[in-house]
Amino acid sequence: MAKEKKGEYRDVGKIAIYPGSFDPITYGHIDIVERALEIFDKVIIAIAENAEKRSLFSVEERLQMVKTIFKDTPNVIVDSFKGLLVNYVAKTNAKVSLRGLRATSDFEYEFHMASMNRSLNTHLDTLFMMTSKDYFFVSSRTIKEVARLGGGVEGLVPDLVVRRLKEKFKLPVAKKKQIGWDD
Ligand code: ADP
Repeated sequence: MAKEKKGEYRDVGKIAIYPGSFDPITYGHIDIVERALEIFDKVIIAIAENAEKRSLFSVEERLQMVKTIFKDTPNVIVDSFKGLLVNYVAKTNAKVSLRGLRATSDFEYEFHMASMNRSLNTHLDTLFMMTSKDYFFVSSRTIKEVARLGGGVEGLVPDLVVRRLKEKFKLPVAKKKQIGWDD
């Protein structure tokens, strides 16, 4: 029974883990989290530390951004993990790994990952949520490419992420008024 096991997030209802690189987090990811909160009591956003995968933002930077974005949403927990997802999941009470699907091109990779995770841990199910029609073309990779070349990504990522991207690529950060924020 859950109560007899040790772990940080036990006995708090239905929990889903949303693993990914989140390099950086986009409104596509945020939309999935918000919709998942309609189904689950808690969502753990688990940022993967993957030494093999070159990331733009360090894990600390990604954690800081995601924590700030969800600071007023207590049922979202933001964490990072190294190594196998199934080993991280074992430390929680989650039985579901949440993934977003943007297009059929995502499906094959996701199907293989979900099947492998299921074979490593038969208690772990993967739940796929379809992207919102507003964000099906949004990926962290294209956001980084566009931002690096000076294109506007406002409306596709939170303002905090827009600022962090500009800082990374040494582009001028617009003053609040110039980008039409309310003071
Ligand atoms: P990965 O590094 O495995 O590609 P990401 O960190 O980019 O994963 O994203 C984590 C999860 O969020 C993945 O399941 C991915 O398919 C999903 N995702 C990314 N962008 C979107 C989007 N625009 N709409 C819905 N789901 C998305």
